Amino acid sequence: MTDSHAPRRRNAREDDSTPLLSVTDLRTVIRTAEGPLHAVDGVSFSVRPGETVCIVGESGSGKSITCRSVTRLLPSAAEIVGGELTLGERSLRALPPEELESIRGDRIAHVFQNPQRSLDPVYPVGEQITETIRIHTATPSEEARRRALTLLRRVGIPRAHERIDDYPHEFSGGMQQRVAVAIALAGEPEILVADEPTTAVDATVQARLIELFRSLTDEGTALLLVTHDLRIVSALADRVLVMYAGTVVERGPVERVFDRPLHPYTQALFRSYDATADRESAPPRRTIPADGCRFRPACPHAVERCAGGDQPTFQGHGTDHEVSCVHFEPDADATAVLADARRSSPGRAMEPRRDGEGTQDEGSEGPEGPGAMGEPE
Ligand code: SF4
Repeated sequence: MTDSHAPRRRNAREDDSTPLLSVTDLRTVIRTAEGPLHAVDGVSFSVRPGETVCIVGESGSGKSITCRSVTRLLPSAAEIVGGELTLGERSLRALPPEELESIRGDRIAHVFQNPQRSLDPVYPVGEQITETIRIHTATPSEEARRRALTLLRRVGIPRAHERIDDYPHEFSGGMQQRVAVAIALAGEPEILVADEPTTAVDATVQARLIELFRSLTDEGTALLLVTHDLRIVSALADRVLVMYAGTVVERGPVERVFDRPLHPYTQALFRSYDATADRESAPPRRTIPADGCRFRPACPHAVERCAGGDQPTFQGHGTDHEVSCVHFEPDADATAVLADARRSSPGRAMEPRRDGEGTQDEGSEGPEGPGAMGEPE
């Protein structure tokens, strides 16, 4: 673990400031040939100014679709069918497209896993950043170009003054990602939504991006981050959401979730985490029940009351640390389920069972289907 991955000192975000982004009971459906897929099913969370909230979970858990619902940059087959999204005082869900367009890049910006989605191949990168600065901050063109150069340096583009007029195809994938981050920051957004922004970059650039994100949040920018890399979660997150099959199963301050994961799925996820895992392996096909606890076909602790009805109610364990599991009781020894799970063989909790009411192919979250466990969505 490099210094850049060292856990950040947390205290500034542990305040009662009003949430900048509030997501309440978000439901997003993807139309597939087999019928509607409930990719995001009743997800709620908030992000405060200067706070970093990380979403973790295996491929197909709904992490990316949650983020894309927030910025309303969904694939054409996907649709938000319920819930509320609020940025400050404004409902993002109710905004007409032209107003949403003016807010995107200005108050909220999205960094895609694939940087090519953010880059226009026919314009030099400097021009794309300059244009974004001018649109969102009404800055004169000379000053905007100076700021574009500063941004390119800030995201770690070497010899930025020489590269500013290069086209996207003249950059490596890692450098394209850095340029995409620069474009996202050009409008000085209040919140950055970043989906696996460090996946395509080497360790040095990853460290630089981590430092950049830290400095942004120290300056007050909020960060909603999807990553499969638990080292990055540890280095950046103030709070963590653990998602499984479109639902949040555990949420809380990062140090509490890491120190004491309460949900059997979180425990399995942490246990199976391996930074050097083969990310090309085929995704498992898993049975996903349509009601009750979605994890029960794979859960070694499942009992009758885990089935049917709604998702198990969230139970709290200390400040803000909550878990959706019928076994958890706030006053009970929270290590009981964890210890039980540890006695199970590694991977036991991830095995599929075929007797549920519905199925979800782990690679079928959407048209841009995700891959294997641990692979970014
Ligand atoms: S014990 Fe039941 S509610 Fe808890 S994770 Fe397992 S299946 Fe879900």
